[in-house]
Amino acid sequence: MVLLQYPKAVVFDLDYTLWPLWCDTHIYMPISALSRNELVDSNGMKISFYKDVESIILELVENEVVLIAASRTATPKIAQELLSLLHIGGKPAITYFHSLQWGQGSKVKHISKAAEDLRLQSALQEGHFMLFDDESRNRDVGSINCHFAYVYDENQGLTRSIFISELKKWSKSLNTR
Ligand SMILES: [Mg+2]
Repeated sequence: MVLLQYPKAVVFDLDYTLWPLWCDTHIYMPISALSRNELVDSNGMKISFYKDVESIILELVENEVVLIAASRTATPKIAQELLSLLHIGGKPAITYFHSLQWGQGSKVKHISKAAEDLRLQSALQEGHFMLFDDESRNRDVGSINCHFAYVYDENQGLTRSIFISELKKWSKSLNTR
């Protein structure tokens, strides 16, 4: 068995990476909880994480990886509410994130800001950051040494197979520097 190596920090996009919707256009407030894993908006739309998200986040937490959320959403309050109402390992998902970065513009900005706030600038410089994101344009985070992990299928979002294959790609590129 090959032991996986983990980066110091993993950054997650939200819409179409952790859940199958856009916070700013698909959700009608108020939202209420049907259970710890499922919410419903005022239009009757059900909301939950993609199925592999919970185990991936718990695995990273267990391995002491710092978690960051970075979203270009125009409605951070809605995103924040989803993260507060949806649970992971019995706790509100939001409690696992060390930094939440919102707003328009490049994720280079979001990630640099998070690294600064968390005093992880050298980890970033040394290639110990990874971003999971469904939008190819966010590949530009490579310019600040953050590994870009493409979440290519919006029907499935972040899957265990993408997670493992990107971890392997990242650790290979780190070790061949
Ligand atoms: Mg997205």
